[in-house]
Amino acid sequence: MVVESTGPVKALPQVTASRPTPVVSGAKGLEAVMELRRLRGLSPSTARQLFTSTVAPVVNYASNVWMHAFKNKATGPINRVQRVGAQAIVGTFLTVANSVAEAEAHIATAQYRFWRRAVKMWTDLHTLPDTNPLRRTTARIRKFRRFHRSPLYQVADALKNIEMETLETINPFTLAPWETRIQTDGETMPDPQSAPGGSIQIAISSSARNGFVGFGVAIEKQPPRYRKLKLKTFSMTLGARSEQNPFSAELAAIAHTLNGLVGLKGFRLRLLTSNKAAALTIQNPRQQSGQEFVCQTYKLMNRLRRKGNHIRILWVPTSEDNKLLGLAKEQARAATHEDAIPQAQVPRMKSTTLNLARSQAVTTKALPEDVGRHVKRVDAALPGKHTRQLYDGLSWKEATVLAQLRTGMARLNRYLYRINAAQTDQCACGQARETVEHFLFRCRKWTTQRIALLRCTRTQRGNLSLCLGGKSPSDDQQWTPNLEAVRASIRFAIATGRLDAT
Ligand SMILES: [Zn+2]
Repeated sequence: MVVESTGPVKALPQVTASRPTPVVSGAKGLEAVMELRRLRGLSPSTARQLFTSTVAPVVNYASNVWMHAFKNKATGPINRVQRVGAQAIVGTFLTVANSVAEAEAHIATAQYRFWRRAVKMWTDLHTLPDTNPLRRTTARIRKFRRFHRSPLYQVADALKNIEMETLETINPFTLAPWETRIQTDGETMPDPQSAPGGSIQIAISSSARNGFVGFGVAIEKQPPRYRKLKLKTFSMTLGARSEQNPFSAELAAIAHTLNGLVGLKGFRLRLLTSNKAAALTIQNPRQQSGQEFVCQTYKLMNRLRRKGNHIRILWVPTSEDNKLLGLAKEQARAATHEDAIPQAQVPRMKSTTLNLARSQAVTTKALPEDVGRHVKRVDAALPGKHTRQLYDGLSWKEATVLAQLRTGMARLNRYLYRINAAQTDQCACGQARETVEHFLFRCRKWTTQRIALLRCTRTQRGNLSLCLGGKSPSDDQQWTPNLEAVRASIRFAIATGRLDAT
């Protein structure tokens, strides 16, 4: 059989299968971010939100596998996504250095995002049940090998100071779907008055201070079963703050208290807590931290119910003055005094460990030495949260004006000459080079437009940091950007029309 050729064989597309690599992720991210940039008229806060929810996930795809190959050459495409993203958010030029663009737009660096994900994955692996094969390989991943090293080895190495092996186990589900959930929403269900036994009220509280977490319990046995009101209190130091948290302490307290009451028959029990998260978790437990305590609580409650007890868990807002809860709080605080010794052997909480691991492995760095000379002179507080405050109230046009003036990469001759877009770096007024300072404070062409700006900055005339919302080295810790001055600078720049694209 002869097969006739019908024409030239079509060239295969360069990326045949989208095997995740830094380059593929960069290319896909670029597509997504271009679409974001096409949406004109978005405010910086909306654009930032869209970047985080539509662009970042595309770039992050499978980053756990390839992030360690994300070096030198491979960083190009992903850095480009970050810069285009910054342009879509605050309108910095694409020539602005990566770290400066990220700081101005207040978006996380790619490395930051990858490490956050990697740390989460490493922590998640350690909470898997023992039946999961991945859980059993973590020790082997951690071991140093010359060859065939796991992509997770670097993450394991960065987190080697954090004890992960004693982490709690989190099962896919806490309770069988048909098991009745206990309601904690308060007064909708009245206490059955016909209960034969007495009633007991239990208040639970937790405390976290001095590096410890503990809980306190106050139990009030009420008449008529008891002739007099009987009060019993106790407390327990659960563990170090690096392993436990107030939420887990509340759950542990509930389980621990019920465990001490399993001998009761025909009682009405009311458990009070002022921790809403704990109350909601008991009501609707999910695949989450603190699961073991919830499981225990449900088992104990079933045992108590079989003996004719009636149990309710109530959430009481802290604003409500409850004497019993106050007593429990006192006990909890006693459990976390300075030289407390943990009394319980409980597994480490995942949520607390994850936060700790993230704070250790994922850090925001200062701007590199060799970039952003102008922006560093304007703002010594970069990177910082104040950039959000600066830009979020602005329209995109106002934002891009501010971003240009702050980064120094603006449509002014000083910069245009540098990129060969202008014949000279001199200002049209013929007095000096057209720098940001000359444009804002000195150029004679804009004297009338400048009146409002000068009125606003009377005492600190010519202070570049003040006018552009930056922190100057002389400012103290309490410094916040002067938004009024920033607004005036933006209005001035827009009134001159000098920064508009032509
Ligand atoms: Zn001039």
